[in-house]
Amino acid sequence: MSSVLSYVQPTANSPWGTYLSQVDRVIPYLGDLARWAETLKRPKRALIVDVPIEMDDGSIAHFEGYRVQHNLSRGPGKGGVRFHPDVTLEEVMALSAWMTVKTAAVNLPYGGAKGGIRVDPKKLSLKELEKVTRRYTSEIGIIIGPHSDIPAPDVNTNAQIMAWMMDTYSMNVGGTATGVVTGKPLHLGGSLGRVKATGRGVFVTGREAARRLGLDLRGARIAVQGFGNVGSVAAELFAEAGAKIVAVQDHTGTIVNENGLDLAGLVPASRTDGGAVSFKGGDVVDNEAFWEVACDILIPAALEGQITAERAQKTKAKLVLEGANGPTVPSADDILAERGVLVVPDVICNAGGVTVSYFEWVQDFSSFFWDEDEINVRLDRIMMNALNNIWDTADKHKITLRTATYAVACERILMARQERGLYP
Ligand code: NAD
Repeated sequence: MSSVLSYVQPTANSPWGTYLSQVDRVIPYLGDLARWAETLKRPKRALIVDVPIEMDDGSIAHFEGYRVQHNLSRGPGKGGVRFHPDVTLEEVMALSAWMTVKTAAVNLPYGGAKGGIRVDPKKLSLKELEKVTRRYTSEIGIIIGPHSDIPAPDVNTNAQIMAWMMDTYSMNVGGTATGVVTGKPLHLGGSLGRVKATGRGVFVTGREAARRLGLDLRGARIAVQGFGNVGSVAAELFAEAGAKIVAVQDHTGTIVNENGLDLAGLVPASRTDGGAVSFKGGDVVDNEAFWEVACDILIPAALEGQITAERAQKTKAKLVLEGANGPTVPSADDILAERGVLVVPDVICNAGGVTVSYFEWVQDFSSFFWDEDEINVRLDRIMMNALNNIWDTADKHKITLRTATYAVACERILMARQERGLYP
């Protein structure tokens, strides 16, 4: 038995390496189920596809795409699609595995999957973006479907891209299949509350963690890295609760204001080509200075591997809320724990998005749509129940919230694996 796969060479801090180390840490808490643990270290299925399109200038461009189904023991695969020039198979594998853990942590009837295309969508025209999306959807159409694997938005993908994916899949199967993707526009079977769901989940879990730490949100200073769907919504909700957003970093740079950045101005500015640093209500500082900003709460909401050991030493935060997937490398995790910094891990902190995606999928099947209050009440209840259960597990074993989340989730995943048995 060996967890070494021939097709990836992870390092200690790479996404798949980070995930493997997180799994190793939970094995002592799995009891007899540990005999199934190897199943967590291997994706069930990984598909690599070529995505050729004709560009507006008549040339032919090829893009590399992936869809990985990490584990389907508890239900169909669920996980976003990322468009980014640096996406790799290894990264998508890790993201798919974190989806397996996340869906189990909040007890949704799903497995974990993820997809990606190595493309910079900012360099494509709208027509080229549509062609890339449709061809990719067609290529992965052999493994996705409402009952097998349901994609959703992730970095650089949105409701319009989900609409094209739904339409392409529907054309290929010969009937409208709204349940094949979530995060769709409202009039195409989308759900109220989905756009804000991940940021809302970060807020709900963060508010509870702050309460347990005795940290008053009124006047609390917050630094946010990544100011897209997740980061900006979480920032707005914390600001509404009385916190000050003192630093924001996006792909254009870092902006700070110790009195609090005015989100009414920053949010629209960050949506322009100039990004967050085009906002005039703060000082632009060096990117590395972001990690030393005087703050109480740090919200990484951009990409993986951002909190390194060095940055974990520097941070002044008492609480880290992982909006992004895999933002903290294992050595940094240890340093934060030693320094008494509480980390609410990605696999529970950012589970709000997949939870409302689940609501969307259920609504699509029943063709009966809920109002936003009902969605938010159900979302908050699921997140709070999951977090409280994880906290009890952490207290019982005296382990971090991350390892506790893995303990709760991996027990569910491996119990399902054991009860289903191996085929044939
Ligand atoms: P997004 O595309 O809306 O926003 C990404 C943000 O990150 C942008 O502000 C961008 O400028 C910033 N960014 C990119 N590269 C950066 C860099 N090198 N340094 C600093 N900032 C950088 O994406 P999103 O949907 O908000 O996703 C952000 C993270 O949250 C990802 O890790 C994603 O996997 C995770 N996540 C998203 C959802 C969701 O529902 N959208 C759900 C769960 C987890």
